[in-house]
Amino acid sequence: MDNRERIDTLERDRILPRAELEELLQAYSDGDRLYAASKARAVADAIFGKKVYFRGIVEISSYCKNDCLYCGIRRSNRSAQRYRLTEDEILDCCARGYTLGYRTFVLQGGEDPWYTDDRIVSIIRRIRRDFPDCAITLSLGEKERGSYQRYFDAGANRYLLRHETASPSHYAKLHPPELSWEHRMQCLRDLREIGFQTGCGCMVGSPYQTAADLVEDLLFMKEFRPQMIGIGPFIPHKDTPFREESPGTLRDTLFLLSIIRLMLPHVLLPATTALGTIQEGGREQGILAGANVIMPNISPPQVREKYMLYDNKIGVGDDEVSSRDRVARAVESIGYEIVVGRGDYQGGMEDD
Ligand code: SAM
Repeated sequence: MDNRERIDTLERDRILPRAELEELLQAYSDGDRLYAASKARAVADAIFGKKVYFRGIVEISSYCKNDCLYCGIRRSNRSAQRYRLTEDEILDCCARGYTLGYRTFVLQGGEDPWYTDDRIVSIIRRIRRDFPDCAITLSLGEKERGSYQRYFDAGANRYLLRHETASPSHYAKLHPPELSWEHRMQCLRDLREIGFQTGCGCMVGSPYQTAADLVEDLLFMKEFRPQMIGIGPFIPHKDTPFREESPGTLRDTLFLLSIIRLMLPHVLLPATTALGTIQEGGREQGILAGANVIMPNISPPQVREKYMLYDNKIGVGDDEVSSRDRVARAVESIGYEIVVGRGDYQGGMEDD
C-alpha cells in the first residue's frame, strides 16, 4: 500500500493493520497530511457541521504530589509558583463562564491532596446546583475507584485522564517509578465503567517516543473507544529534566488528529492549548485537520502564569473575556462557529 491507499483504507474501514499504520507514521509527505486532513474534516463536518464546541477550563491547583518528568508543575520543581483556588473562587469562574456562554466546565489541576474527596464532592454539588444545565468535566488525575464513584454520584459527567502512552516501557521513561502505567489504565477502565464520558490521550513527540509507540496509542484509542481524546505536542519546560528535549511538531500533531478523526468519527477531539503554543494559529489548523473542541481558559488572570505545564503557554496575559473572544474570532476566521451548549458525545458504542 502507498500512503494514499492507507489513508483511503482508514477512511473506509476506520482501522489499519499495525504495520501499515507504522509505515504511514514513519514517512508521510505534506501532501499526505493535507489529504488526510481534508478527509478528516469532511468526516467531522458530516457529523458536527461547521461547529466547534467550547469548554471553559478552570485550572484549580498548581500543587502536585506527582513528579512526571515532563511537567512544569511536578513536585520537585522548586521554582514553580503554587496556588490553589477556593471553592468560592471556582464557583465564581463558573459564573463568569456561564455568562460568556459556556455550558461545560472543565476542572483541571495537579494531584493536590488538599482537595480531599469531600471538598471535590462539595464543589461538584455546588456547580450542579447553581448550573444545572451544564456539564461538569474533571481532570484531576488518578484516584481510587470509590472516589471517582463519589464524584459521579455528586453530578460530574465527564473525566479526562490522558493515558500518556500505551507502551508500559515508554511510560516508565516519562514517569518516576512510583507511578504505574497499570494503575493509570485501570483508572480509565474504572471511569468508563462508572459511567463517565471518558477521555484519554497522549503527548505527541514526547521524549523517547517512537512511531511504534504512537501506533500503540492509536490502537489503544480504537479499542478503548473513549468519548474524548486529548492530544497535543510535548513542549519542554525549563525547570524539568526534559528541558533540553525537542518539542513535538505541529505537523505530526495535525496528522495524528486527522488519523484519529478517521478512526473514531464521533470522538470529541480538542485542538489543544499546546497546539496553539507551538505555533500561532495552531488550534485553527487543528480544527481544519479534524478537531472539533476548543477549551479556552476561564481561570482567574492572577493565577494563569502559575499553571505552567510547559514554556511559553499562550493566554496567560488574558482574562476570561479576551480568551474567549480571541478563540471565537480565530474559529470564525476559518468559517466555523462556536456552539453554546453542553456538546455531549453523540456517537453510539458500535458505529465508530
Ligand atoms: N494531574 C492531572 C492528570 O494527571 O491527568 C491533570 C493535569 S496534567 C498537568 C494535564 C496534562 O498535561 C497531562 O496529561 C499531560 O499530557 C499534559 N502535559 C504536562 N506537561 C506537558 C508538557 N511539558 N508538554 C505538553 N503537555 C504536557
